[in-house]
Amino acid sequence: MRSHTIEEALQRASFCLEKAGLEQPRMEAELLLSHVLQSDRLQLFLNREEELPAKSAEQFERLVRRRCAGEPAAYITGEKYFFGSRFKVNKSVLIPRPETELIVERALHWSDRQKAAGNLKTVSCVDLGTGSGAIAITLALKVPGIRVRAVDISGDALEQAAENAAALGVKDKISWHRGSYFKAFREICPRPRFNLVVSNPPYLSKWDMESLPRDIREFEPPGALYGGEDGLDSYREIFEDLPGYVLKPGLVLLEVGAGQKEQVEDLALESGLFATVSWYSDLAGHPRVMEGKIPGPEPGPRE
Ligand code: GLN
Repeated sequence: MRSHTIEEALQRASFCLEKAGLEQPRMEAELLLSHVLQSDRLQLFLNREEELPAKSAEQFERLVRRRCAGEPAAYITGEKYFFGSRFKVNKSVLIPRPETELIVERALHWSDRQKAAGNLKTVSCVDLGTGSGAIAITLALKVPGIRVRAVDISGDALEQAAENAAALGVKDKISWHRGSYFKAFREICPRPRFNLVVSNPPYLSKWDMESLPRDIREFEPPGALYGGEDGLDSYREIFEDLPGYVLKPGLVLLEVGAGQKEQVEDLALESGLFATVSWYSDLAGHPRVMEGKIPGPEPGPRE
């Protein structure tokens, strides 16, 4: 077989990816070839007339075939960027999504305000269902003096998250706990308490699971997606245990699925913990993140 230039290889791959129904075939081809050549898309462009070595061509072809079969690009390359940092991902963790960055934005806004107002010396944070560690690690990187406890029910996910924390230099700011949301702390004495509670729990309903696109349905971990019959099981459990684990003042940030705003807000209000509940929308305009503010403690009786 005659050899090909980088440009020719990209064109052939784009053609296959387009036939497989992918929406941005050229961009996908460039992403996979950059991964093979350990370079970036600009380098590919600058070297487009250079010959692609046979070994790289073979490897590229294998990756393109996997992508054509529906495997998400992040699992093929083993990485995904979230809030500007590179996270390693494997099939035991959900691929971080851009809309989840909203949680980080709101948490940073709140911690800056609290510190400026002198309300808070340290941020004690819990990330429930940490997966790749994207939220927990980003907060550890961005909030000075923060302590994070990251929870997941999957030991494999915790391993991947701990590897990410080490690679990004925040291993000492995070501890890892295996279990179901706050139940992971049942045996810990004294009981930890948090002024910042963040979570992107599994929230898809049975019906959502059945109508998922193939790349998610066949490749991403169902445990990170499925939230029970109506998709709300995680929120029920989190709100039930929340009162025993919060510090006042505090903030709770939860990602929710499309159309879950009203039900999650009802659960939040039933808990009686929040002074205000606000919503932030993703770029598609769906209310995506619930922000519940827990007021400071009532002033005690005057002496
Ligand atoms: N956002 C994911 C999806 O739509 C679901 C993630 C989750 O359940 N937390 O596929």
